Amino acid sequence: MTRRPLVAGNWKMNGLAASRAELEMLKDRAPRNGVEVLLCPPATLIAGFAAEAAGSAVQIGGQDCHAAASGAHTGDLSAEMLADAGAVAVILGHSERRADHGEGEAVVRAKIEAAWRAGLTAILCIGETEAERDGGRTLDVVTGQLSASLPEGATSERLVIAYEPVWAIGTGRTPTLAEIAEVHDRLREALGGPLGAAAGETRILYGGSVKPGNAAEIFALENVDGGLVGGASLKAEDLLRIVEAAAP
Ligand code: PEP
Repeated sequence: MTRRPLVAGNWKMNGLAASRAELEMLKDRAPRNGVEVLLCPPATLIAGFAAEAAGSAVQIGGQDCHAAASGAHTGDLSAEMLADAGAVAVILGHSERRADHGEGEAVVRAKIEAAWRAGLTAILCIGETEAERDGGRTLDVVTGQLSASLPEGATSERLVIAYEPVWAIGTGRTPTLAEIAEVHDRLREALGGPLGAAAGETRILYGGSVKPGNAAEIFALENVDGGLVGGASLKAEDLLRIVEAAAP
């Protein structure tokens, strides 16, 4: 089963108008090597970046959305607004949203439904805390998050899973290759329930301290289909090396 690798950069709350220089370098140098490249800047930059990247190998995504299409939700953005600004995908359920905004599975599920309603691909982030890993609960936690937050109607085109161990995000620490493989293999199996045969076509990204130096060995694992990259996505040069490492 061939799955097109995806490298998604999550800029989090980083990036000003001047950061457009990074997008320009990324778009000018992104290799057409069979890897899909998605950049998720802060909301203030989405429309400008989408216009700048139009026609290039780089696509633009959001980092969160509200579940409603519109309404009295000061400060929030709907999936429809992201799509209108030129986004093609949105990261949902990131552990920083779960921790900073108390988002639980029901909220994440409603946001995925909103993303699909607006025609966006939902990148669903799941992952265990360090205490959960130490307690031997990693597989139960991630499969539990998956089943509780995945709405009916998932397809391999509009769903991407990102396995992101919370303790590996922004820390420079990563699980061993065997530990990553164990989780991704289990997630592939678990996707068979809701997706049937399409589970084999659904991308499962690894996220958590992916860098140019470790990307190739992680992406070489059978059920790893690319990465969700935070810190190392801020410099186009580093992200480009990670995109190269993801080539099929
Ligand atoms: C992330 O925030 O999704 C992430 C994986 O961050 P980092 O690459 O910095 O660990």
